[in-house]
Amino acid sequence: LASEESRQTATPMMEQFIEIKANNPDSLLFYRMGDFYELFFEDALEASRALGITLTRRGQHMGIDIPMCGVPVHAADDYLQKLIGLGYRVAVCEQVEDPAEAKKRGAKSVVRRDVIRLVTPGTITEEKLLNPGDSNYLMALARIRGGDKPQYALAWIDISTGVFRLAESDLPRLLADILRIDPKELIVPDTLFSDPDLRGVFDVLGRVVSPQPSVLFDSSTAENRIARYYNLQTLDGFGGFTRAEMAAGAAAIAYVEKTQIAERPALGAPERESSASTLFIDPATRANLELVRTLSGDRNGALLKAIDRTVTSGGARLLSERLMSPLTDADAINERLNAIAFLLDEPRLAEEMRRALRHVPDMPRALSRLALARGGPRDLAAILKGLEAARAIAALFSGLYLPPELEQAQRALGAVPAELEKLLGEHLAEDLPLLKRDGGFVRDGAMPELDELRELRDQSRRVIAGLQSSYIDETGVKSLKIKHNNVLGYFIELTAGTSGAMTSTPEMKARFIHRQTTANSMRFTTVELSDLESRIANAAEQALAIELAAFDRMVEAVVAAAEPIKKAAEALAIIDVSAGLAHLADEQAYCRPHVDGSMRFRIEGGRHPVVEQSLRRNAGPAFVANSCDLSPVGEGKNGGIWLITGPNMGGKSTFLRQNALIAIMAQMGSYVPAAAAEIGVVDRLFSRVGASDDLARGRSTFMVEMVETAAILNQATPRSLVILDEIGRGTATFDGLSIAWAAVEHLHEVNRCRSLFATHFHELTALSEKLARLSNATMRVKEWDGEVIFLHEVGPGAADRSYGIQVARLAGLPPAVVSRAKEVLGLLEDADRKNPATTLIDDLPLFQAAVRRDEPKPAKNTELEEALKSINPDEMTPREALEALYRLKSHL
Ligand code: ADP
Repeated sequence: LASEESRQTATPMMEQFIEIKANNPDSLLFYRMGDFYELFFEDALEASRALGITLTRRGQHMGIDIPMCGVPVHAADDYLQKLIGLGYRVAVCEQVEDPAEAKKRGAKSVVRRDVIRLVTPGTITEEKLLNPGDSNYLMALARIRGGDKPQYALAWIDISTGVFRLAESDLPRLLADILRIDPKELIVPDTLFSDPDLRGVFDVLGRVVSPQPSVLFDSSTAENRIARYYNLQTLDGFGGFTRAEMAAGAAAIAYVEKTQIAERPALGAPERESSASTLFIDPATRANLELVRTLSGDRNGALLKAIDRTVTSGGARLLSERLMSPLTDADAINERLNAIAFLLDEPRLAEEMRRALRHVPDMPRALSRLALARGGPRDLAAILKGLEAARAIAALFSGLYLPPELEQAQRALGAVPAELEKLLGEHLAEDLPLLKRDGGFVRDGAMPELDELRELRDQSRRVIAGLQSSYIDETGVKSLKIKHNNVLGYFIELTAGTSGAMTSTPEMKARFIHRQTTANSMRFTTVELSDLESRIANAAEQALAIELAAFDRMVEAVVAAAEPIKKAAEALAIIDVSAGLAHLADEQAYCRPHVDGSMRFRIEGGRHPVVEQSLRRNAGPAFVANSCDLSPVGEGKNGGIWLITGPNMGGKSTFLRQNALIAIMAQMGSYVPAAAAEIGVVDRLFSRVGASDDLARGRSTFMVEMVETAAILNQATPRSLVILDEIGRGTATFDGLSIAWAAVEHLHEVNRCRSLFATHFHELTALSEKLARLSNATMRVKEWDGEVIFLHEVGPGAADRSYGIQVARLAGLPPAVVSRAKEVLGLLEDADRKNPATTLIDDLPLFQAAVRRDEPKPAKNTELEEALKSINPDEMTPREALEALYRLKSHL
């Protein structure tokens, strides 16, 4: 398209299109033509396929038909949503001058057009394109070389709410840090995009990653560029940032500017997040524990859905963020818990609060649209309603002695200027149009000048109605009507059959001026009618101008109060989350966890929050509560390990997961599904549960399992919580058993962390004799009449059998196979009794001893040393020296 010949032969419009397209090669170009956005060439082919719309053609280019498709402007949001959802980016190209101007330049010149906005997944603001309960983050990744190792940093911005945060990261934890924020779009320097170190990270993120020119990430100009965005000299007032953080932040801002072009979103001050302040959850664990989505990508069945009782979009977003990033500071966690405790003590207040919150609209998103000049009257109303609700809620709190978290929130609610609410309340009408374009959003009585114009307009309309009846009298034609359309304005219409009345006398002919003849009617006007018409038009035009000016004033006032509005919205979200969690705790009989800096992990009567609710919903059996205690044993400071055996279907996975979920819930500052819980803050949570197959990436299930296990054994600290389910299942028995065995020993001796280890290798239970902090626990079953009954109860001790054959029978394996399997099992068990693997425990040295044995031993070299020592070079003849050299060599 960009070739010289192509340019030379293009029509002026095509020439313009080709030029704009050349500047936006990665985006579908929505090219404005009247009431449509049209797409041409490749874009048209792609879009018609993606949107299922008709492909046509418009003219020819270099002798070939130009493919074209179009979407109506009024429905553009729906199509944009679909395209963004499919991972496309769209450049919206509008007419940027009045067509009359273009005509002045010459009959053939085209209206000037320009891209006014790039729509990308991470930079959208439209209500229709956004999911109310989700943050919509654009993230930038920067890497700075220099020093002993490269520094990584992330910056993320939600332009629909103005949140802007920065954090350092490093390669091993990069993916986990990115997934914690779950950005919709991740921009990376194109030089990094192909870096083999980052291949794995980008592979997992897939389409979300978008390479951008490296200049965006230039660290030497970064600080200046950020400061310029905020109209500041320096960033010192925001606290210190590392060079890498600034590079990432500046890139994110540059990208926002690049996509929004003329408009600047109202971003909050950049806030720095320290990675040590949040619970590290590695990517596999995050996916396997199904925190926000299930492994199959569903929201139903995930933890978030089960614990979400919020009633506002802001609250839903905050809850999701808290769940994604639980805290590690016991004081901060307890502040959140105090807010819930307070609301549980004041149930009536809490319910009133939730009722009031239901009316809170999405203030931050309305605010961001207004700041980007994309807002309408309903966005102003959203701010008004939000401010009203904020005042009502602050009043509910007044006079109470509040815990700090709620007190701060109350203070933020009171900080919005009261004049703003007054201004909006006095001006906005009850029923508001979506767009400001046609006016009608300023309430009657708000502006005398506007009222007068409206009165004039309405009066004139009444006069017109009067005119119609007087014309009917005059002409005697009952069917005469005064109508209005956009081309003619007001006109008198008669059917073709009755129109003769108008020309019956010369006076009539002079009075009724003919305007138009259609197939079955004739249209006329009169001097008085056109006078009235221009009075109405003038009044309407003036009224609209007044309304639009009022709109601008209101937007200006809102944007001027952006900070306090944002703070108030945050406060409402905090109150919503606290009240929602209090409601949940009450409804589900959760308890307040005791969270501190100890190494304890003691859960009494714990339940799985998702399984429990689903059993209840389906009127299934009651969930069996189970306790778990991994607290340090005796005086030591290291946590315990529970080795859990029991038959398949016994409830091992459920038990493992519920304890991990309880830790996460406690650290996000929620009550937990248990009778009592004591949790010493966990710094990292690891789990290897279920089989998250990764076959698409060419790894076998076993390989995935080993990669994940390796990550855990390499990274878990004494403060971590590790949940391992069925390690070593994916390989031959002896391989698997040996790997599981060594992993348990490593956890006990090296990681020394609190952990739960479920296994079907009963041989491992013997380890409890040697490992002081290892205890055996088992899922109890009852045997009755040759059948197994799962009690789902965790008790001390080891399972004596695996009941695999019974479970297989329950699953419907043919009876012949079941009985043959029993026979084979009998033989195998006989053989095992003669030579049980448990004898290993007596023969094998302990892990540390074994590791020491594996280290390079000096044994052989000692002889060498002795030989060397016995040599005295000063007293040797050359011949003796040579012999000695041969002797020494023989010791190797
Ligand atoms: P395993 O990992 O031992 O094979 P699962 O944890 O997958 O067993 O549990 C098997 C089934 O038992 C699940 O469908 C679950 O709903 C049910 N279950 C597990 N634990 C409990 C419990 N504590 N109370 C009630 N039902 C349970």
